[in-house]
Amino acid sequence: MNFTNTIKREQSAKLFEEAKGYFPGGVNSPVRAFKSVSGPPLFIKEGKGCRFIDEDNNHYIDFCCSWGPLILGHNHEHIRNRVIDTVSKGTSFGTPTKMGNQLGKIILDNNRFIEKMRFVSSGTEAVMSAIRLARGVTGKPKLIKFDGCYHGHVDSLMVKAGSGLATFGISTSAGIPESFAQETIVLPLADLEAVENCLKQYSDQVAAIILEPVPANNGLLLQDKSYLEGLRQLCTQYNVLLIFDEVISGFRVNLEGAAGYYGIQPDIITYGKIIGGGMPVGAFAASAEIMSHIAPEGAVYQAGTLSANPVAMSAGLATMEILVRNSFYTQLEKKTKDFVQNIQQHCDDKNYAVSIVTIGSIFWVAFTKERIMRSDQIDPKSMEHFKVLHHELLQRGVYLGPSGYEVGFVSDAHSVEDLEQAAEKICDAMDIVFR
Ligand SMILES: *Cc1c(COP(=O)(O)O)cnc(C)c1O
Repeated sequence: MNFTNTIKREQSAKLFEEAKGYFPGGVNSPVRAFKSVSGPPLFIKEGKGCRFIDEDNNHYIDFCCSWGPLILGHNHEHIRNRVIDTVSKGTSFGTPTKMGNQLGKIILDNNRFIEKMRFVSSGTEAVMSAIRLARGVTGKPKLIKFDGCYHGHVDSLMVKAGSGLATFGISTSAGIPESFAQETIVLPLADLEAVENCLKQYSDQVAAIILEPVPANNGLLLQDKSYLEGLRQLCTQYNVLLIFDEVISGFRVNLEGAAGYYGIQPDIITYGKIIGGGMPVGAFAASAEIMSHIAPEGAVYQAGTLSANPVAMSAGLATMEILVRNSFYTQLEKKTKDFVQNIQQHCDDKNYAVSIVTIGSIFWVAFTKERIMRSDQIDPKSMEHFKVLHHELLQRGVYLGPSGYEVGFVSDAHSVEDLEQAAEKICDAMDIVFR
């Protein structure tokens, strides 16, 4: 298919050519390269509310929201003011600060599922630390993860299922020793029996089961509550820790994340994205007992030069102060539901094979009518549809993350009018996808 551009992307194209001389593939994180959609990536120079502006001065309603962190939209006044105030006093001291206490308090006071936490600087770091903690607490080496869940670029989790009868995983990236990958067992989602069979055989070696309770990195593979409850039960029965990777779902579906949404107590929870209000922050959290294994209290080492630096803490704190307001989440969820329903109705009326999956303020466009719960149920051919949709939306001033496997996010800054406008454009673009 040939793509015609009605918008200019000259400056972005030029900057991308230059960037290729500096960064592998011209980017500092691979999915930004627009490999699976058309044209060069947009170079964004400014954001405000639900919109941002590229270097060619095109305006877009943004549903990527920096891949999740910006639940209050771009350049929120309260966050900006707090950050500027903090920066004016210095950016990092390598000491404890009051700001760290304040963010820790507001998070822990509003979450029944965790008692203590530690701040790090990214989601990957949070996961890496959580699995070390799980191994340290249990004294066992192996992990169970699920096909279709992403946990950052952690060595032992960049792993997929081995072929045939192989139980242990094979790495999905060069540079990961086979011996690391073999510490991870990869199972399909939505299959409790597979987990039970595996634990029957290997529970004496398995430290933890890790999953995204709201799997949102390979489409939106919503699981049944009973499945998640089953995992909890099996973990307890077989003396294995349950890690919820809530780097996306934490502070997104509500203040207690998926643990609160489903009412399930995991043993360790990881956070990232929203927790830093647009600055680099991650965290892992658990009961006081489990967290007492972390240095300097315990024997599991974990540290960070810029961990809990005041600037990052202030952005997180300013964000939380707004998220704790009454009805923040119900309003955001309602707006998202109406938006999704609008588009779904159009697709149903026209008989397009589209289902828009949604939870909280997350949504994902699936080009099928089937319910999808595992990544292997996503037809790779449907990504051709996404490519057209993505292109047509750029022409109309709507920005989705540049991959059909990525979810979209609605922020508090998306007004009902913005969402109606966006829905109309998405419906128009759908008409072209199915022309
Ligand atoms: C984004 C993400 C990560 C990695 O976080 P980074 O900050 O990109 O390192 C880990 N787990 C999940 C579920 C994520 O969505």
